[in-house]
Amino acid sequence: MDHAAATPLDPQVKKSMDPFFVAQFGNPSSLYGLGKRAALEVKNSRLNIAKIIGSRPQEIIFTAGGTESTNLAIFGVARNMGKGHIITSSIEHHAVLNPIKALEQEGYSATYLPVDAQGFINLSELKKAVRPDTILISIIYANNEIGTVQHLGRIGKLVSGVNSERGRQGLAPVLFHSDACQAAGALDMNVNRLGVDLLSVNGSKIYGPKQAGFLYAKTGVKLRPLVYGGGQENNMRSGTENVAGVVGLAKALEISQKNLTKENKRQTALRNFFIAKLLKIKGTKLNGPDPKLERANGIVRLPNNINISFKGVEGEALMLYLDAYGVCVSTGSACATGSAEPSHVLLSLGATQNEAQSSIRFTLGRSTTKKQLEYVLKILPGILAELRRVDNFLFQPNVK
Ligand SMILES: *Cc1c(COP(=O)(O)O)cnc(C)c1O
Repeated sequence: MDHAAATPLDPQVKKSMDPFFVAQFGNPSSLYGLGKRAALEVKNSRLNIAKIIGSRPQEIIFTAGGTESTNLAIFGVARNMGKGHIITSSIEHHAVLNPIKALEQEGYSATYLPVDAQGFINLSELKKAVRPDTILISIIYANNEIGTVQHLGRIGKLVSGVNSERGRQGLAPVLFHSDACQAAGALDMNVNRLGVDLLSVNGSKIYGPKQAGFLYAKTGVKLRPLVYGGGQENNMRSGTENVAGVVGLAKALEISQKNLTKENKRQTALRNFFIAKLLKIKGTKLNGPDPKLERANGIVRLPNNINISFKGVEGEALMLYLDAYGVCVSTGSACATGSAEPSHVLLSLGATQNEAQSSIRFTLGRSTTKKQLEYVLKILPGILAELRRVDNFLFQPNVK
């Protein structure tokens, strides 16, 4: 129940990768057959991804995962422009927030747009935040903690309008980046419809390999690389290509996008069933978008995402109890585990410190069944009662 943290490799993906570990181990830069065959596989994977996202193949830069992609987008643009102003949302993944914070230390400035109670940014606030020195807007496509799906197409249109006006004023265009790591398995990835200049994707959230990802960078977008060396990836990302990883990433994206409608429908039904049942438990509250909005608006919440606060219960404790029953969930974001900090995403929605610390994220996957959800629903009331009893016992001032 934690597929937003990791997904198992799809057997077909594994099969596609297998030959490149031993038999076809060539370096794509080598000029003999073994190397050329590896280069051809990288090329074909690039073509396949380009076809899926509606880009040109040369606009795909292979990286070692989502974090490297977002870092290349953000530092790449920032270093190319010198100083400047960056706009982002207050509910980004740390892979976006922390590069921007690092740039602030170097003298760049940043605006963190607030979100409404369901996690949506406000387009007129975004427009108002643009300054003459703004260089980049980075907005997460689908949020990893609460599943909010931003309307990237509308943001893209707004940015394009802003840029027409800037063109007339002789100002450089603002570039639009989106972190699509949670989106690639469930949402439209066509870069033209989304209106993005830069898009970050990884394999590990879409039943592909970890440490494999790509950055889409539209023709004309200038980036300074993060990694210098042999000049691979059109000088944008040096280092011997992760051939198996690249092949697996392309295969994983292909499978995800092919089964998208069917799998979304299945997971959405499971999600709505689970949410309805959870909300019948006393003291629960759903964090993130209301699934009811989807009747009129299409997908507003990732089909696999359920984020719930359990009043009076420590999320970490609930997570550990569920683990003992064989159920994996996460509190806040998995990447922040180890810190007792409440989730910045939930706080941005207006949750109190207590509500944020009493929240659990369940994320469904391809193998999730209704029977599994029923098992969780069966064990939860007992665990909650036990946690509340222990809590009352420990924190009663006059306990003997
Ligand atoms: C997982 C994730 C990342 C980081 O990707 P890695 O491949 O782990 O580096 C970035 N953004 C979002 C939204 C994610 O879910």
